[in-house]
Amino acid sequence: MSDVIQFSCPQCHGETFKVGTEVKRLEDFDGAVCTGCGRTISEKDIKNRAAEIARKLIVDALKR
Ligand SMILES: [Zn+2]
Repeated sequence: MSDVIQFSCPQCHGETFKVGTEVKRLEDFDGAVCTGCGRTISEKDIKNRAAEIARKLIVDALKR
């Protein structure tokens, strides 16, 4: 299992971002700029992504 945090752009689904600091948590993507379309990631985008991840974890847990 890898510790790399995956975040995909809500606009172009790109996964490469320009970030000011080293990304350790999902929250660190706040203000990151997508290299694909230039979109700036907002706190709202992060919350949506966090909710998506939480849903996926629950679904995976229920499958076991
Ligand atoms: Zn993008």
